[in-house]
This record gives sequence, structure tokens and C-alpha cells, in this order.
Amino acid sequence: MKYVDEFRDGGLARGLAATIAAEAEPGRTYRLMEFCGGHTHAIARYGLEDLLPQAVRLIHGPGCPVCVLPVERIDAAIALARRPGITLCSYGDLLRVPGSGGTSLLKAKAAGADVRMVYSTLDAVAIAQREPERTVVFLAIGFETTTPASAVALEQAEAAGLGNFALICNHVLTPPAMRAILAGADGLAADLDGVIGPAHVSTVIGAEAYDFCAAEFATPLVVAGFEPLDLLQAVLMLVRQINRGEARIETQYRRAVTPGGNRKAQALVERWFEPRGAFAWRGLGSLPASGLKLRPAFARFDAEARFDLAPRPVADPPACECGAILRGRKRPEECRLFGTGCTPDHPVGACMVSAEGACAARWSYGRFR
Ligand code: SF4
Repeated sequence: MKYVDEFRDGGLARGLAATIAAEAEPGRTYRLMEFCGGHTHAIARYGLEDLLPQAVRLIHGPGCPVCVLPVERIDAAIALARRPGITLCSYGDLLRVPGSGGTSLLKAKAAGADVRMVYSTLDAVAIAQREPERTVVFLAIGFETTTPASAVALEQAEAAGLGNFALICNHVLTPPAMRAILAGADGLAADLDGVIGPAHVSTVIGAEAYDFCAAEFATPLVVAGFEPLDLLQAVLMLVRQINRGEARIETQYRRAVTPGGNRKAQALVERWFEPRGAFAWRGLGSLPASGLKLRPAFARFDAEARFDLAPRPVADPPACECGAILRGRKRPEECRLFGTGCTPDHPVGACMVSAEGACAARWSYGRFR
């Protein structure tokens, strides 16, 4: 398959790994965070850590949209779904994320709530058009990658004159979270030598969005694609920058990412959304200007305003280490519930639910180092 097979060539992968090993300086450790959960999944799937020298340590970041949604926002969605006349729609992974007391949207559905899994935001708009007697609420999550899709749904709902469609906006922003991690605020992983920048997010916001990493934190960042050769090449680019004492923003994933990103998607998001004062992330805590909300002019589509949703902080399940894992402080296998009390069939924390979650990736591919 074009643009896939050539990036999975085993011989080239071994050659890149050998170059990384040869160029890694003796006695030095290279602590590199892959921010994106898609990268975490690819690293586990292709066994890339097994190829890398011990000197290179990959640290999982918080870039899994399902994982960073705090428990109280799941609880608020469940409470809304239980109200009469409400149809709550969201992506499949999110329906399985445990809320307080082990409940979930899927369990609420089993108990009679009208919860529906959709593959696209536009599926939710179509339900609102087909069933005007229902109020259809889309539970929106994700980084800059999925926000444009929510904006498109709102555009269509507006064009169709729908009064029975609304959205719970949980969209979050990558740069503020990355800034908090590099600043080492509240126990976040500051002692990083470099960052592997996200792929899909960067197609939207562009590589220039990370200029602050180099300018303010003297930390190099390389935007990488999702295939094994993409990631190995990005690691080599970072090792070379670190060896030279440089801190620059580079793009390995040049077949998809430009410096300025997707201006059309950015304009669409800008029309509908504005930054919140602060947004609570699972594991990272409350980060200023790190989340989006609907602009006041579109309050009629804002489920939080329409239904007076006010999520109250709730602690993660006892013994679950999702917070420390999302902060880059622990690895999944350091959680005592990993693979015993917590598995993909019976997840305790969000990191075991989504395919992009670090715990699910570790469990699925069984690779430890
Ligand atoms: Fe949480 Fe389960 Fe991961 Fe432990 S293994 S950190 S309980 S998701």
C-alpha cells in the first residue's frame, strides 16, 4: 500500500536503529516524550523500544483524548443521558470509560438511557434531523484533530435550522499541555531532552505552533508520522539535535504537515469556539487556556449552558495510576492493577480503554522494557 509499506521496511528500520545506537553518546540518556497516543500505540505495536539502544528512553505523554477526560465530565454526560428526551451520542471508546463508582455510558445505556455510538459527528446531526422529538447531544472530545469535525457538525446543524442538536465541548489544546509539561508544573515531566510532536494534530495547527518549545524551554521537537520508519527517523533527528546542543522544531512528517497547518480548518474552529479560562485534565490538573468552549453567540448549541451541566471534581479510582502515566512519571506496568484488576475487558482507568491509551497499548502488544 502506497505511503504505508515503504514506511514499514524491516531492513531500513534495523539500519535506522543501528545509526541511532552508533550516534548515541556513551554515558548519556536521551529522554524523549511521544506526546501523542497514536505514537504510543505504534511504538508498542511495532516493538520500536526493542530496536532502540538503552540510552534512548521513550516516555508516554498525555495525547490520548479519551484518557485525559476527567471522571467528572464522564459523570456529567451520564447524568445528562439519563434525562428524559435526551439522546446522547459519542464515539465508541468513550462509552466504555468508567465514571464514578464503575458506571459508564454503556452501563447507562443498558439501564435504559438513550446512548448511541456514532462514527462521525455528522451521524449525530442526522439523528437530530430524523428524530425531531428527541434532543440530540454530541459528547465531543479530542485535540485539534477532532475539533474541526465538531465545527462541521455545528455548521450543518445551523444550516438545517436544527433546534434539537447540541454539543458538550471537551475539546482540548495541545500547546498549553505541552507547555505545562516542559515547565514541569505540579509534578509534570520536565526533565525531557526532546519531544516527538503529534502527527494528526500538527496537520491542523502546523509545526510553527511548537516554536515556544525551542524558544522558551530550549527543547527540540520533531513532528513525526505514525509508521515505524517515521518514528525511528524522528528519534534519530532528535538524537542529532541533542548531540549538537541544538533546540529546533523540525518536521519529519513532511508528507502531511506544513509550517502553518490547515488554515481552512483553523478558521472553522475559530468561528465556533473560543478558549476557556482553564480546563481540568485527568492527570495534568487544571491548565489555563487549554480547552475550548462554544462562543456565547452559539449558546443554543451549547449543552453545558442549555442543561446547566457543572462537573464537580471527582478523584480517579483508588490505585489507578493514570494520572502519573499521563504526566510521564510512571509506566503502565508500574501500576499494581495492570493486567490483574485492570484489563481492556474490565478497565479501571481510562488509559486501559482507548487504543491510544498507554496501558491498553502495553497490554495489547505485551512489550516491556
Ligand atoms: Fe489505571 Fe488500569 Fe492503567 Fe492502572 S492499568 S493506570 S488502573 S488504566
